[in-house]
Amino acid sequence: MNSHSRLSSILQLFLSSPPDSGNRSSYTMAPVDIQQYDYIVLGGGSGGSGGARRAAGRYGAKSLIVESGRAGGTCVNVGCIPKKMTWNYANMQEMIDIFQYYGYELPGGVKADYNKFKNTRDAVIKRLNGTYERNWAGEGIDFVRGRARFIEPKVIEVQQQDGTVARYTSPHILIATGGHPNIPNIPGAENGITSDGFFELEDFPPKIAVVGAGYIAVELVGVLNAVNVETHLFIRGDKFLRKFDPMIQNTMTDRYEAAGVHIHRNHTGFKEIQLVRDGKGKDRLIKLVGHDGVEYEVNELLWAVGRTPELEDLCLHIPGVKVNTSGHVVVDEYQNTSAEGIYALGDVTGQADLTPVAIRAGRTLSDRIFGPSEHKSSKVSYENIPTVVFSHPEVGTIGLTEPEARQKYGNDEIKVYHTKFTALYYDVGLPPEGKAKYPTEMKLICAGHEEKVVGLHILGIGVSEMLQGFGVAVKMGATKEDFGRCIAIHPTSAEELVTMQ
Ligand SMILES: Cc1cc2nc3c(=O)[nH]c(=O)nc-3n(C[C@H](O)[C@H](O)[C@H](O)COP(=O)(O)OP(=O)(O)OC[C@H]3O[C@@H](n4cnc5c(N)ncnc54)[C@H](O)[C@@H]3O)c2cc1C
Repeated sequence: MNSHSRLSSILQLFLSSPPDSGNRSSYTMAPVDIQQYDYIVLGGGSGGSGGARRAAGRYGAKSLIVESGRAGGTCVNVGCIPKKMTWNYANMQEMIDIFQYYGYELPGGVKADYNKFKNTRDAVIKRLNGTYERNWAGEGIDFVRGRARFIEPKVIEVQQQDGTVARYTSPHILIATGGHPNIPNIPGAENGITSDGFFELEDFPPKIAVVGAGYIAVELVGVLNAVNVETHLFIRGDKFLRKFDPMIQNTMTDRYEAAGVHIHRNHTGFKEIQLVRDGKGKDRLIKLVGHDGVEYEVNELLWAVGRTPELEDLCLHIPGVKVNTSGHVVVDEYQNTSAEGIYALGDVTGQADLTPVAIRAGRTLSDRIFGPSEHKSSKVSYENIPTVVFSHPEVGTIGLTEPEARQKYGNDEIKVYHTKFTALYYDVGLPPEGKAKYPTEMKLICAGHEEKVVGLHILGIGVSEMLQGFGVAVKMGATKEDFGRCIAIHPTSAEELVTMQ
């Protein structure tokens, strides 16, 4: 059946009079009109917004965004933006710690008001929510707030907040519904918060336990420790950031310990969480009971144990969209799902859970569906994606880790350049234990006789800004010699990347 006749049959199904079956009670709902679009996007986060804006703004496709939460999705509301702002807030404290070494004195001390900052941050986010909605309206995109689900292979039903139900159809439907943070399935686990709850805290607790070893755990622990919260990090292995290069795992885990984080390595997990005393801040008391029998009492517990794709009530079995064992939507290299005319991208596919990846995928898909013929085979390259961890200090990485490179090319084909030093910024008389808190370290992994740079890993002050430019070079296939041909900028930390021997 072609898409037009399929659509007519669906429309007939929903717009025709109720069948006179004699059993009128089986037909209780008033028929709902089905509105027709060129493009329906489920989820107004990074990927959905990027995709709809390209479809409507550049190609004039009549587009609809269905969003159940706040405009902008995870990144704007409970991800990149509030995280980076809070990281900046914590950096202020680190700067204050360095002040004295530059000869500054703060006679009255410094009073930090997190709640004031939180209100400022919330206002920025609210402004961004409005910007998203205005951009959609400006590009002629219809926006409906509510939770979407498939009721026919190409028909979406949305339960709106006022209780009314609306139905929409389109030959092209994008699933960009993102994900949500996990809470482990153990008794009392709901007494802890996740990264979503972290951004709701009105003040920091005096003592917190964070469970997890991924970048979100490491970023939030870095913030908490920098603002002098007694922070306990529980990790299953003996290092965190296990997907990163060993240099980053080793230096960052040691650095966090040197900076005062209580790292509970090789922890066997918790069997029960008890809420001893409800309340806020120091008045809240939570007991963590370990499988090893050891108990901890903290004022807050933060789970950072991964994220699950947000698919529960979408009814993906109706269009026949396949999901893999990790719960992600299965897509091919063009973001096609297993159902014709239905696409997925962003966190819901688990390809690379990053905002710019979701935006790029959304735009590229719209180019392919609605754009001119030269875009008909456009797809995103998921290779060499630069990634930053906003830890303390920052981490930047692109390409292969050393073990991955050795496995791919063989030991004989790999040459590694490495340097570790104290950035000039911190070289102002800090004692050795002070310097240990602020390492700078860099590694270039080169392959073949031409020494193509296949992995670049950096940590230290300013590396998040540094990586973008080096990312261009790596993506272009630069060699060590190309790096060396670029004259160093002195005095910077980045110059090491072009002068390493
Ligand atoms: C704490 C944290 C920090 C992060 N920091 C960074 C960072 O620094 N840099 C970076 O690049 N990435 C970061 N990320 C990841 C980034 O936020 C995500 O990769 C990105 O938001 C994914 O975009 P998306 O479009 O796939 O999904 P989302 O942005 O999550 O959007 C999905 C939207 O779909 C909506 N939705 C879900 N189900 C339905 C439904 N049934 N009907 C209607 N709407 C629905 C949701 O409400 C949501 O708004 C961070 C994430 C977290 C959690």
